[in-house]
Amino acid sequence: MKRLILTVIIFIGIAACKTNPFTGKSTLNFYPNSQIFPMAFAQYDQFLTENKVVSGTKDAQMITTVGKRISSAAERWLDANGYPGYLKDYKWEYNLVNDETVNAWCMPGGKIVFYTGILPITQTETGVAVVMGHEVAHALADHGAQRMSAGMLQQIGAVAGNVAIKDPEKRNTFNQAYGLGSTVGVMLPFSRGHETEADRIGLQIMAIAGYNPDEAANLWRRMKAKAGGQAPPEFLSTHPSSDTRINNLTAWAPSARQEAAKFGVTSFK
Ligand SMILES: [Zn+2]
Repeated sequence: MKRLILTVIIFIGIAACKTNPFTGKSTLNFYPNSQIFPMAFAQYDQFLTENKVVSGTKDAQMITTVGKRISSAAERWLDANGYPGYLKDYKWEYNLVNDETVNAWCMPGGKIVFYTGILPITQTETGVAVVMGHEVAHALADHGAQRMSAGMLQQIGAVAGNVAIKDPEKRNTFNQAYGLGSTVGVMLPFSRGHETEADRIGLQIMAIAGYNPDEAANLWRRMKAKAGGQAPPEFLSTHPSSDTRINNLTAWAPSARQEAAKFGVTSFK
């Protein structure tokens, strides 16, 4: 029986491997966009109805502007690197929600929320671009789906023999990965590897979008400074700040500029 399960897992594993265009790495992903996006879109719409969406303000406009610039930069990069149509199922949406929680997130398929509470830390449009680039990078690299896939492997192990993952189970895995249903704040953290990947991809995208990549390290310095205060940013519970992160971003900034130059972008906000 054990051998059968292992065979099935290996089979699904091979069938479910997908290449990450940004890293060239093969990743485990059982969840095609066609399955995960509808769940994400429904959860996102529900979240918006239950929270205070800000519209018509300068800040709300800024979130939309930055989001559009970042997603169009991602699209240009993908087109230029042999992945045209990669984003065809994405339905980008950028919303600002009135909530003092210091957080921002992006669900699969490009559904983004910024809380007003993070704006004092992002400070400028470029600061917003740092967070936006990073969050969008998680979505582009299917990190959520990979995390769900890892969870599903555990489930297969747990329910020995019953490898048919039914819809309710899929939804459970999704809710675990995104912490939705109750509060988004309990979202599981990404692995350190995924964080590093999102930092690197995000930095390139923000530079192609015309935002100064040097500001990324500064954003994380501000986040780190805030962590010492009375109310540590919620964002840090899923995105631990560290000197390594700041050092990496500083070291990668020149190559992000070079990447942007390939797209004719040589001056930055
Ligand atoms: Zn992250």
